[in-house]
Amino acid sequence: MTWKFRKRDVRRLARSLRFRLMVSYALLFLIMLVGTAVVFRAQLASQLRTSAEDSLNEQWAAIKGGYLRIEPTLDLDNKYAANWYYDENDPDETTEVLNLKKVLLIADENGNPIPEAKTGEPSVSTAYDDLGREKPEEIRAYVSMARKRAKAPLIWGERWSSKGEPFWLRSGLIWDERHRVPFYISIGVSLANNRKILSNYTWTAFVVVIPSALILASLLGWIMAGRALMPVREVAQAAQRVSGSNLSLRIPTREAGDELDYLILTFNRMTERLQSSFQQMKQFSTDVSHELRTPITGIRGQLEVALFTAKTTDQYREAMFNALQDIDRLSQIVRALLLLSQADSGQLVLQKTRLDLGDLVRDLVEQFQIPAEAAGVRLTCEAPGGCFAAVDRVQIERMITNLFSNAFKFTPEGGRVRVTVRPSGEQVEIVVEDTGRGIPREHLPYIFDRFYRVTASGTAPTPEQGLGLGLSFVAWIAKAHGGTVAVDSTPGAGSRFTIQLPVEPVQPGAMDLAGQAAAS
Ligand code: ADP
Repeated sequence: MTWKFRKRDVRRLARSLRFRLMVSYALLFLIMLVGTAVVFRAQLASQLRTSAEDSLNEQWAAIKGGYLRIEPTLDLDNKYAANWYYDENDPDETTEVLNLKKVLLIADENGNPIPEAKTGEPSVSTAYDDLGREKPEEIRAYVSMARKRAKAPLIWGERWSSKGEPFWLRSGLIWDERHRVPFYISIGVSLANNRKILSNYTWTAFVVVIPSALILASLLGWIMAGRALMPVREVAQAAQRVSGSNLSLRIPTREAGDELDYLILTFNRMTERLQSSFQQMKQFSTDVSHELRTPITGIRGQLEVALFTAKTTDQYREAMFNALQDIDRLSQIVRALLLLSQADSGQLVLQKTRLDLGDLVRDLVEQFQIPAEAAGVRLTCEAPGGCFAAVDRVQIERMITNLFSNAFKFTPEGGRVRVTVRPSGEQVEIVVEDTGRGIPREHLPYIFDRFYRVTASGTAPTPEQGLGLGLSFVAWIAKAHGGTVAVDSTPGAGSRFTIQLPVEPVQPGAMDLAGQAAAS
């Protein structure tokens, strides 16, 4: 059980952003450190190698400068032979030659070491022998190659002693110019010291410095990541405190202008939008229950009248008639709510066809002549043909009908209602204007909101006023077509509603419609 718990904890830690940031930081640091150490090591190695070569070059120059004196002699067969000596009275020369003698081979062109004049010993040092002396035939081959090329190539190379000590060797020919005879000389220096320096460096860098730096960097990364992520934790804690009843909560920004401030700002905006949606929903359910209560109370009242007070048939009939009217109103509300919920959930998908809006409006105006007359207003139309647009006929008719019924409702007898259809750039414009009572300026921003009705301040809307949904449908239908609706009104003089619809079909999917409806 405990083990399981620990395992889960470790997994959570490994997944945490803080841990991953620390690991990335430490990894980056490790790569940089190892990279630097490797480059530095390579440079150190090449410098050590150069210094070994320099010292061999100096020795070679000393040999050429005459520290090794090679004397021609004749052997028993009267053939050219040689031995060598040095000036023991010259301390510099003595030191140099004694140093040279540690790793030295002087051979004649046949590959045989020539003797030192003083001792008669062949001039091949024990150390050199141990490194693996060249065979005479190898030297002969080298000499003949050098003769052919007229210049002896230098040979550099590394060899290992039997004890595993590395040496750096330089071999080449030195000529007895007088007799045109070459001598094969090979000298070398031990690289043991260089190796020791390098391995010391490797140990210190890779075993001591890098791991300690890595531990330090990880610690630092852990602390830094913790500090950087602190505001994220604060945001998360604040977000946890947000609930349906606590949507007014805002997280204060740190005024750093960084990504986290942006995150906080975005979060705050989101809660703001949520708050307003919640508010709208609350308002909506309050409005709906209020709207439903009025006709239900009416029906109940009429039924009570019928049950308890009505005596004559006429009184019964009147109560029933009134109740029926309230039922009509109830079903009108339910229909409107159904339409609203369809629009909100995106079920109301537009069925677009290419139509002449002029024709459509003229037909509607004809149909509305009788209600207009009943309201005592003159309905006129100015709609030239050829104003085509891709629209949903049913919805556009509903939109214009809503505007007409408002215009008739709020225009006193003798007033005028005029509808105009005209092209306007890439759009078609439908304008419905009346000479009615107009809408006070302070109400204009809310006129398209659901259940919004213009009432004298402090008074409740009357049932005759309607549901306050007509214009919200107008706005929704215009938006769903990719268009706009605007209102312009002067109290006492009249109102003008202007709808603009794009000529080209816009094809919003069901989701878009839902979004647009929710926004309306
Ligand atoms: P309803 O469906 O109840 O008519 P609307 O959303 O259509 O509601 O209208 C909201 C309010 O806007 C109405 O209560 C009314 O006060 C005002 N209004 C709408 N159209 C006009 C108009 N043409 N003239 C004056 N007031 C209007």
